Amino acid sequence: MKESFDLIVIGAGPGGSTLAALMAKKGRKVLVVDKNPRAGGRMLTVRKHGFSYEMFPINGVPARNSLFEEVSRRLDLEEELQPVLPKKVGVLYYEDSAGKLNRWVMGSSPWGLMTALGVRLWKPLSLIRTFRALKEMATLPPAEIEKLYDISAMQYFKRFEPLPEGIRTYILASFGEGAFEMPSDHTSAAEMLKLFQAAQKNGGGRYYRGGIGTVFEAYTRRVEELGGKVLMNTRVDHINFRKGAACGVTTEDGQKFDAPIVVSNAGLRQTVLKLAGKKHFSEEYLSWCRNLEHNLACAGFRYFLDAPVLEYPMYIYYPEGCVAPYKEFEDMASGLIKPAHSYIYLGTTSLYPDTAPPGKQLVYACMSCIADPELDISPYLEYVEKRVRKIMPELFDHISHTETFGPGNVAGIGTDIVLPGQGGESYGLALSTGQSGPAQPGHLSPVAGLYFVGCDAGGSGLGTHQALDSAVKLAALLE
Ligand SMILES: Cc1cc2nc3c(=O)[nH]c(=O)nc-3n(C[C@H](O)[C@H](O)[C@H](O)COP(=O)(O)OP(=O)(O)OC[C@H]3O[C@@H](n4cnc5c(N)ncnc54)[C@H](O)[C@@H]3O)c2cc1C
Repeated sequence: MKESFDLIVIGAGPGGSTLAALMAKKGRKVLVVDKNPRAGGRMLTVRKHGFSYEMFPINGVPARNSLFEEVSRRLDLEEELQPVLPKKVGVLYYEDSAGKLNRWVMGSSPWGLMTALGVRLWKPLSLIRTFRALKEMATLPPAEIEKLYDISAMQYFKRFEPLPEGIRTYILASFGEGAFEMPSDHTSAAEMLKLFQAAQKNGGGRYYRGGIGTVFEAYTRRVEELGGKVLMNTRVDHINFRKGAACGVTTEDGQKFDAPIVVSNAGLRQTVLKLAGKKHFSEEYLSWCRNLEHNLACAGFRYFLDAPVLEYPMYIYYPEGCVAPYKEFEDMASGLIKPAHSYIYLGTTSLYPDTAPPGKQLVYACMSCIADPELDISPYLEYVEKRVRKIMPELFDHISHTETFGPGNVAGIGTDIVLPGQGGESYGLALSTGQSGPAQPGHLSPVAGLYFVGCDAGGSGLGTHQALDSAVKLAALLE
């Protein structure tokens, strides 16, 4: 006898676990199947050597009034899943073309930021231009933002030129490339502006006691408490079809489950090309699917320290000219050029409660790169280490253990590799021009009964928040 459910969710990543819990709360009998030992997908929390940490660095944006809080409230988990917010989010380093390194503690005087970014406060024209750009970005109404999905962040910025180079670098590197893991000549200006406004209003740096994965673990636990079933360490082998409609799944160990609705959190392309199978789709759809653009990956280090060296959760190093077009990432990947002026993210989650043994710290240091799992990450590691030595040399006196990560480590806990050069992407499909707003891949598939959820489907925002947005929207659609 096959077990039957109202809904099967493949994957307990941020998108899948959120959708599953919201649907269980609505009274649906839900099955969740995930290949990993616990929920959270690319942001699952690992518990090892007394640390609780994610495989990759995380900055939760927005900090306040996020969808995480709304979902936890709907699931009666708001008491348990209180976000922890840092008093000061971090430090910005800006290195000008002469090699001078300026430092600004985030949240302190905006004049300090201007000075650190090389804006000459005594030159009124440069100040006026800077304020005009920042004011437009902070106040552009939603209807105007909607017109900018097909304009890249880099293109959008041209309207403010000439601008002090430090301002252009900071905005495009943080709210274009950094936030969306996509070079700012591909990132949609509309998405950058929505995120900029959200960050202005509600800040960044949200995290959770014991790791962000605790949120997704609590959501899947809620599925079970509400009468559903969760199968971890279980890979879905394929989706089953009856009369052209999705009707259930078969797992790799041969278990079969039925449901009139199958929602995949396993990636749009991975679901179509691998789990469902090409024969269920038209050539036109398959070709669209193969040509979708995914975002970049990260390459870097996890340093385990025997002392708490970082005072704040996040340190970002921007050398002048670090805003690179997509072509530059391709040239780095092909070995044509070496990483030489990329921005570096240095951060820790060990400052939050229940994340590290007393007196110890886990630090991430990384830069962006192409998402090809076959990429040789050694030139990126060399560059990252050189820059960390420049901004925080004392860190190297306290390393007890080092691990590296790159695009080759992502698919193991996220979605599968189904296309050449794909698999290491940090979020999934990119929120890039031609692929965001009305052109963004959504929740619906061309096949009856099959839906998508997560970063590949209809959400807006940064990483995990985008995945939750997708889940909240699909839960409303399946009402
Ligand atoms: C280097 C890096 C840095 C990041 N930084 C940030 C950040 O600062 N802030 C932020 O918010 N986000 C960040 N993210 C992004 C965040 O991890 C993703 O946005 C989020 O995890 C995507 O959620 P999802 O639900 O779409 O998919 P995923 O997290 O990919 O989850 C997919 C799930 O599907 C499961 N699955 C796949 N195939 C199968 C199968 N056949 N059978 C069963 N289960 C299957 C997987 O095991 C996984 O649990 C970062 C990610 C990386 C890699």
